[in-house]
Amino acid sequence: MLNRPTGRPDRRTFAIISHPDAGKTTLTEKLLLFGGAIHLAGEVKARGANRRARSDWMKIEQQRGISVTSSVMTFEHEGVTYNLLDTPGHEDFSEDTYRTLTAVDSAVMVIDAARGIETQTRKLFEVCRLRNVPIITFVNKVDREGKEPFALLDEIADVLALDVAPMSWPVGMGGEFEGIYDLRADRLHLPAKTDSGHFEGNTAEFTGLDDPKLAETVSAEGLARLREEASLAVAAYPEFDSAAYLAGDLTPVYFGSALKEFGVGELIAALGEHAPSPLPQPASSGPVDPDHNAVTGFIFKVQANMNPQHRDRVAFMRLCSGRFKRGMKLLQPSTGKSIAVHSPILFFAQNRELADEAFPGDIIGIPNHGTLRVGDTLTEDAAISFTGLPNFAPEILRRVVLADPTKTKQLRKALDDMAEEGVTQVFYPSIGANWIVGVVGQLQLDVLISRLEAEYKVDARFEPSPWDTARWIAADNPADLKAFMETHKNATATDRDGAPVFMAKDLWELNFHEQRNPKLRFTATKERA
Ligand code: GDP
Repeated sequence: MLNRPTGRPDRRTFAIISHPDAGKTTLTEKLLLFGGAIHLAGEVKARGANRRARSDWMKIEQQRGISVTSSVMTFEHEGVTYNLLDTPGHEDFSEDTYRTLTAVDSAVMVIDAARGIETQTRKLFEVCRLRNVPIITFVNKVDREGKEPFALLDEIADVLALDVAPMSWPVGMGGEFEGIYDLRADRLHLPAKTDSGHFEGNTAEFTGLDDPKLAETVSAEGLARLREEASLAVAAYPEFDSAAYLAGDLTPVYFGSALKEFGVGELIAALGEHAPSPLPQPASSGPVDPDHNAVTGFIFKVQANMNPQHRDRVAFMRLCSGRFKRGMKLLQPSTGKSIAVHSPILFFAQNRELADEAFPGDIIGIPNHGTLRVGDTLTEDAAISFTGLPNFAPEILRRVVLADPTKTKQLRKALDDMAEEGVTQVFYPSIGANWIVGVVGQLQLDVLISRLEAEYKVDARFEPSPWDTARWIAADNPADLKAFMETHKNATATDRDGAPVFMAKDLWELNFHEQRNPKLRFTATKERA
């Protein structure tokens, strides 16, 4: 059984995907509150036994000037530990966001009821789809006027090409909102009587939509509408099917209001009941099962020091198997060396005993001086090397021009470092001296320029390049690839690992070459070999 592992504590490792303003921050806070957060963030205050753990990581933050607090948030509910990984909330994308999604087993998609599916939600969804990440949908802000529930469900189904299974139904929305009906358990969740009160306890159970007692709880109009809409919904949409959800083909949909705390408890319950516990992770030697004895994990994010005086970094490792213990020595296959993990940051650190170990699905922060890179495997079993971490095709390509040409060495070092962190990609063209940086969002360019200056004392600027997009290229027969590279010297390059890349002026040109060269594969993501 996926959801009932034996012999190790149960985990749900997930991320929230949404468009800015849909309510991710609000929902995160409510989840932490509701779940009795161990790791606390933002407005939420530490209490009692949690203080020690809290002061631990605060000290690390102060010493190193690194903000790790919001990268991983952990809470507990009914015996299950939930690891919520933060995806940066900018309009702009970074590879960081993408990669974080490779470290989760499932995602919650938050949609603003008035706005439906927005651009960022769609992009993040596509990343989830690459790996068939199961998604639970939370339609937020039902306390405000929004689109009709049917319109929202159809929009999710059409835009994302996904089956939708409504799990709950709002009784009215906005000013007419009276509560949320749980379609499966025949329960009605009613707004709390007090302004600030928790929603808990305000639940009434019924025998079904035709239960006469419903009339005592909601208005006549509200009830008529609920009966009509909910029975239609049950008939019109597929029933929840766990296998289809786990395969990423169907999303259960919950309605709620993060701000007013409606539906938050149901969302946690849904994660506990349906979302997968740690799944096997793809590795070169075949998927690694979480019950594998050896400790294994991969680095999905590296956060550099915000303080330019130090070169310290925190590498975030997703633990994939085994039982991690503080001080443990792990092999880093990319260098062939072993590193001892003496001072891991364990985000779920609730008390001293727990602070010393971690289990599959947990995230461990490992302070280091730049030896650990995104995509690295750390393992007790030398035969295991994880493969799932993709690079994403950049959407913005710029030429790097140095103000002082004697600083070429520093520039190369800086670009390589930042490529390692996933801040940017760097391409070395087959012809021409100017290196190309590729990013997936404008914000990354700003970060890059300011860090070049502050950390590497390199004065550089970006100029437009003739290219707008890039794809990794590969072929079964190396001769086909070589021939293509030679005839298109002016538009090919290699990335920092030496993998061949084709750069195109626009999508039209890209399509043209794809059609002309059926033996070549043009891919928008590059998985690590
Ligand atoms: P994020 O950008 O996705 O993190 O969104 P925030 O959590 O910051 O929310 C954006 C705005 O929407 C804030 O003003 C919130 O108070 C508001 N908001 C969030 N959830 C709800 C909700 O359920 N109902 C209403 N009416 N407003 C909400």
